[in-house]
Amino acid sequence: MRNEQGPLPTDIYLSFVSSLYHNRGMLVIGMLLHVATFLLVFLKTSDAFYLACIVAILFLWVLRNLDMMRFDRSDLSDADDAAVRRWENRYIAGGVAVALTCGAACAYAIAVTRDSFAQLACISVTLASLSPLVGRNFGSERAVLLLLSSAACLPMMIAALSLGDPFMAALAFLILPFILSTRMMANNVRSFLSEKVLSARNDNLLSAEQIGTIASQFETALNSMTRGLFMLDRHSRVAVVNERAAELLRLGDKAELKGMPIDDVLERGARGMALDAEKSEYIATQLHLLIAGRRSRTLISIAEDLFLEFAAYPRENGEVVLILEDMTAHVLAERQILYMARFDMLTGLPSRNHFAELVHDAMGVDAAPDRDVGFLLLDVAEFRHVNDTRGHIAGDKLLKAIAVRLKSLAAAETIAARLMGDEFLVFFPNLPGRSDLKERICGLHAELQGTYVADGLRFEMAIDGGFVLVNASDFRFEELQIKADLALSEAKKRGHGGCAAFEEAMEARYLDRQKLKVDLREAVAGRALDLAYQPMFTPDGSRVESCEALARWIHPERGSVPPPVFIQLAEELGLVTELTRLVVAQACRDCLSWPPEVAVSVNLSVLDLRGDEIVGVLTGILKETGLAPDRLHLEITESCLMADPARVQKVLHQLRAGGMTIAIDDFGTGYSSLSYLDSLPVSVIKIDRSFVHDIDEDSRHFKLLLGIVNLARALELKIVAEGVETPEQLQLLRERNCADLIQGFVFAAPMPASAVAALCTHTSQARAASVGSPSADFHENPSQPKSLG
Ligand code: C2E
Ligand code: CA
Ligand code: CA
Repeated sequence: MRNEQGPLPTDIYLSFVSSLYHNRGMLVIGMLLHVATFLLVFLKTSDAFYLACIVAILFLWVLRNLDMMRFDRSDLSDADDAAVRRWENRYIAGGVAVALTCGAACAYAIAVTRDSFAQLACISVTLASLSPLVGRNFGSERAVLLLLSSAACLPMMIAALSLGDPFMAALAFLILPFILSTRMMANNVRSFLSEKVLSARNDNLLSAEQIGTIASQFETALNSMTRGLFMLDRHSRVAVVNERAAELLRLGDKAELKGMPIDDVLERGARGMALDAEKSEYIATQLHLLIAGRRSRTLISIAEDLFLEFAAYPRENGEVVLILEDMTAHVLAERQILYMARFDMLTGLPSRNHFAELVHDAMGVDAAPDRDVGFLLLDVAEFRHVNDTRGHIAGDKLLKAIAVRLKSLAAAETIAARLMGDEFLVFFPNLPGRSDLKERICGLHAELQGTYVADGLRFEMAIDGGFVLVNASDFRFEELQIKADLALSEAKKRGHGGCAAFEEAMEARYLDRQKLKVDLREAVAGRALDLAYQPMFTPDGSRVESCEALARWIHPERGSVPPPVFIQLAEELGLVTELTRLVVAQACRDCLSWPPEVAVSVNLSVLDLRGDEIVGVLTGILKETGLAPDRLHLEITESCLMADPARVQKVLHQLRAGGMTIAIDDFGTGYSSLSYLDSLPVSVIKIDRSFVHDIDEDSRHFKLLLGIVNLARALELKIVAEGVETPEQLQLLRERNCADLIQGFVFAAPMPASAVAALCTHTSQARAASVGSPSADFHENPSQPKSLG
């Protein structure tokens, strides 16, 4: 069948042919009409020909109905044009047979019967049944043409012509326009309908070009996904797969995967990734759970360096979309974070928190409550010195080397960790059958000390250790760490490289010290500290040039607390600059009550020189009290200079620029090199009393003192000799011109401020009377303390 654009698509052709077969009602009506008409004509004419026509009509009707039922039963979903045409032909054959019967009846009535009723009845019923032809048979152009011509045209025209009557001949030709117009109508209806059907269908369908474009867009989108995708059909066979999925599971060419059962796909992946049977089975199980909808997503560790997350999205029609994502970077980052929280990055040893967890676990598993466990705290002695002199890189390498040795010594039975900086912790579990816990701890400590090579340098390292042994049933982590810490402090006090066991007395001392700290804080806040002054005399004792302010703390219960003790406590409490501020303020006020040529010396703590706050504090006090800056001397120890040389140097220059005098205290006990003095704004050195106290007995000591003196003289520094106790010492120092000023019990012990005023008056009177040495009657008098504030 064709329309104006060419052949009709098969499906439309088929629907037109189907329409022929589905008009059964019309067929029944036509059959009844024909039978009734021929019956009437028979009754009128008694001509058996019409009975034959009735029989023919009924026979054809039965045949055509049977054919229609066959059509209904046949499966035409895959029918091609030829098959459809066969059905069309069968229909046309039936139609033409009926039309021929009618045409024959007409022709017979016109040419043979010549009865006017028979003629009228036959022609009317034939033409009447031709009109619905259009409505019924428009689907087949050939059917319309053949029916019209066979039913109407030929028999009727032949019969009319055969009569030899010119009027009847004319009538025969007048039938032609009717045939043509009917055919035209049928054709119009058909082409109108086929056009509508085609355009409606084209609106819904896409052109091949459009389909191609969409397919390639889909393919591009699919293959540029960062996630892998499988679309599985109802039988878990691959319907769609993208490049990423094939790549993630090492599946090779994705084109080969189409239609493959997912199990085979997995097998192929397992081969590609060389997975063992157990692993591939596990992965398969997980995927089956996903596909079955028992789980929506799952993270699978395919290999050490490959973690994939699978997610399943089931569809209503039984298909499943599987999405897989490479989570490796994510998982590894998470692990790294966890590792960083648990382990020290430099040494790879557990950090404190993780160490606590490990120890806790070890205690939970196999600690026998009746046996001891050990806890050793280690501190690398003078490690800061390595950092300061060799740099942090060398320092880090040294720590690493120590950690490596620690790991090898600690072995499997113990747990080692790095605390902050240069401190390490080792836990010794109570292994069955080992009672030598103490020896094991001391042995490890001893072997850890010694020579290390790091960053191409050799280091001879001493390591301080403090340990505690405790019954496993009394194990409390925090408490043990504190106890080991106390033991470590004790070891440090005894000199470097020792290893001390915790003793109860240490804890008592520790608690005592904590209490003393509380009291000191109160004393500083309440300004309950006092000052004593110790004068520095010219060697002949005729004149006091300066007095050193020395802090005093009389504890309400414990009595006098030695300055080195409470100064250290103040440093630990962060209170020392506040203490310095109080001391300097009082010292300046007291100095104002002395003769103008007498200066006052104050001691600064290492911590005072950490920042430049001290510059403001001191200049502020000088301004407030109105004391001339050159009457304020500052004593700093050599250790102050070592901490942060550049910063301290800067602060000292600022102080010197403010007019204050700077003295190095306890000279000779700290730094071995004297050359640094050259670059500092220092004008006085105070030679430590350890160089002075046996010069009259040990000539070697005296030579050492002379060496220091020569150096100081070369640097044009003023020399104060500290701790001069005996006239013999004084005599020696004078003879060899070893000091510009003498401080010591030989002239005067520390005394109250008021006593200084009296002493100065006394010495100036003595000078006036030209008598040499001052009396040593002036001593500290705790009964008349001069309170700070
Ligand atoms: P230092 O600065 O070396 O002070 C001198 C110490 O030697 C004083 O002890 C003094 O009493 C003592 N001394 C004086 N002459 C003799 C003597 O002939 N023989 C002997 N054996 N000792 C003598 P003190 O007052 O107990 O002070 C001890 C240390 O406490 C001071 O040593 C100083 O470093 C520190 N100190 C004292 N007061 C303060 C302060 O206000 N601030 C700071 N930061 N430190 C202070
Ligand atoms: Ca001093
Ligand atoms: Ca000193």
